[in-house]
Amino acid sequence: MKVAMYSAQSYDRFSFDKVNEEYGHEFLYLDIDLNLFTVKLAEGCEAVCIFVNDQADAKVLQALLNIGIKTLVLRCAGFNQVDLEVAKELGIQVMRVPAYSPEAVAEHAVAMILTLNRKTHKAYNRVREGNFSLVGLTGFNLHRKKVGVIGLGKIGLAFSKIIHGFGCEVLAYDPVIQSYPDYINVIQLEELLQESDIISLHCPLLKDTLHLINKERLALMKDGVMLINTSRGGLVHTRDIIEALKKRKVGFLGIDVYDQEEKLFFRDLSGNIIEDDDILRLMSFPNVLITAHQGFFTSEALNEIAHITLQNLMNAEKG
Ligand code: NAD
Repeated sequence: MKVAMYSAQSYDRFSFDKVNEEYGHEFLYLDIDLNLFTVKLAEGCEAVCIFVNDQADAKVLQALLNIGIKTLVLRCAGFNQVDLEVAKELGIQVMRVPAYSPEAVAEHAVAMILTLNRKTHKAYNRVREGNFSLVGLTGFNLHRKKVGVIGLGKIGLAFSKIIHGFGCEVLAYDPVIQSYPDYINVIQLEELLQESDIISLHCPLLKDTLHLINKERLALMKDGVMLINTSRGGLVHTRDIIEALKKRKVGFLGIDVYDQEEKLFFRDLSGNIIEDDDILRLMSFPNVLITAHQGFFTSEALNEIAHITLQNLMNAEKG
């Protein structure tokens, strides 16, 4: 199959080319996001492969169909960037990678907690400047802290297992899950928000989880709470979190994902980068740690993503 891969980075080429020897698809690697302007670059291909910040809304899907593309494969788990209803109406087959190395994201969430708590990001810079003072670097023990997990799916469960190993009390909220290990105390969302010292988000971005963390829910949290979001940016209302940081309601914020993330990475065909004031505001807080959606980014996960995506393409080819 001839496949246009959008947002293709050097690591995508590396992992896909290696695995593709077994499958023999033909890839057109495009170092640009899928959007209405860039759809035409896929002309002549039979399928399109996209990542988290490529936009497959109704207009883009129609434009893909207009150039004969009926297969859309996502090399990620989240699917909030695709209008699935429209894809179904247009007869465009959409496939994703529902499960790959949940430990990769879970470990990144834990790394964010430890970095923020022990202020490792600040210590790193200080020591490199020749400053070995500990002033202002006091952390806290994770042992016996209450950690609230919102979304107890594959990543939430992997995260819970690790954090339990630190001696934390694990609280969780998930409206669907029914079976989980004994050490997890599943409770209602309101109670979790009130009780937790650290809250980590692991639920998908859906219509009913958009801005799940907003002014009202932030008000329920403990003063100085640590909030970690490695799931999807839209789960958190950015302006509300900025206000909560200003008031020190939120004491630490770790985000691997961001509400307007696609704008940060979006480049039109002339290569212009759109700026975003809120992310600059967030960066101005020393107790905020931001990474560029790298939770998934381990060699094991990249290998699994390539295998599953290439298998999806093969299944599509077979019909
Ligand atoms: P999953 O489908 O296994 O688990 C999601 C869980 O969330 C399910 O148990 C579901 O019942 C629960 N849920 C649904 N609605 C909820 C709500 N309103 N409140 C609380 N829980 C709710 O998914 P997963 O593989 O664990 O992935 C979770 C999310 O992590 C994905 O949706 C994706 O957005 C994100 N993710 C991020 C990265 C990254 O690199 N940062 C990589 C992969 C996935």
